[in-house]
Amino acid sequence: KTVKPEKPAPAPFPDGSIKISNRERVIFPDSGQTKGDLADYYALVAPLMLPFAANRPISLVRCPQGRAKQCFFQRHDSGALGDAVRRILIREKNGGSEDYIYVEDADGLFACVQMGTIEFHGWASRADAVEKPDRMIFDLDPDEGLDFDIVKQAAADIRDHLTDIGVVSLAMLSGGKGVHVVVPLTPGHDWDMHKDFASRFAQALSAAEPERFTATMSKAKRKDRIFIDWLRNQRGSTAILPYSARARPGAPVAVPIEWSELAAMKNAHPFSIDDVEALLKRATKLKGWGFAAQSLPEI
Ligand code: ATP
Ligand code: MN
Ligand code: MN
Repeated sequence: KTVKPEKPAPAPFPDGSIKISNRERVIFPDSGQTKGDLADYYALVAPLMLPFAANRPISLVRCPQGRAKQCFFQRHDSGALGDAVRRILIREKNGGSEDYIYVEDADGLFACVQMGTIEFHGWASRADAVEKPDRMIFDLDPDEGLDFDIVKQAAADIRDHLTDIGVVSLAMLSGGKGVHVVVPLTPGHDWDMHKDFASRFAQALSAAEPERFTATMSKAKRKDRIFIDWLRNQRGSTAILPYSARARPGAPVAVPIEWSELAAMKNAHPFSIDDVEALLKRATKLKGWGFAAQSLPEI
């Protein structure tokens, strides 16, 4: 059976039915933020995050004892997440199917945080149309030690290449090391076409400028280059969702930005969960970020 999610207007705050235990537990030992701080962050940022995070299969990075202890990546329900986290049966390659998870509202996010979640990663398709991707992500992964200026220039150049073929894209700082170039799409095409487009676009860039880009995951081939990680665009792959916190030092967050802001950014993690007020203020000018009615062109 496939669960057909209805689409209620996202509740701006958790409705109080999900209780956060151990609020004082330190989750980010280097900077001191607690589980309560993280929950408060998600409660406030939920209205900004849910348009991207709700109603799509998600994976969680859970670190119940904090980011410095053991963390695990969870894509299926372990039975512990409760009813605010919804389940959806998705067909697997081997012919079977598995229960995946998604949330509909702030309570869903909160239930995950209660169970030790720091990071929320999302599929590139929605729970009500899992076979029809609605966003393409070029995840720019710089080689160790590569200057962030180089990453910024690469992101801007990729945007220009996309503009040249009539595609609108947006920038997101991952909260880690790189920039994600995000292409919102009207669902329609299938995963084969999605992956094929992403792959060919990345290969073309690396073929044209092999000194700057590689389209293969190999660390050896990445030497002083940027890996254009197009593999986020395969069925079942996930990418960090806008406004998700990261399980990295300082409790940074993934943040959507305007292209015009990119040049001034010093790194990919300028905001942390402490900056929720600034993020809420920024949201007004970012209205429309991440949504565009467009289809993949022929390339
Ligand atoms: P950065 O900017 O530092 O690269 P990022 O979020 O882009 O941050 P990547 O390592 O490039 O990080 O992306 C890894 C992607 O692979 C994540 O977005 C996530 O969805 C997925 N992923 C991460 N950990 C696992 C895991 N243990 N198993 C499967 N997929 C994972
Ligand atoms: Mn990356
Ligand atoms: Mn990557």
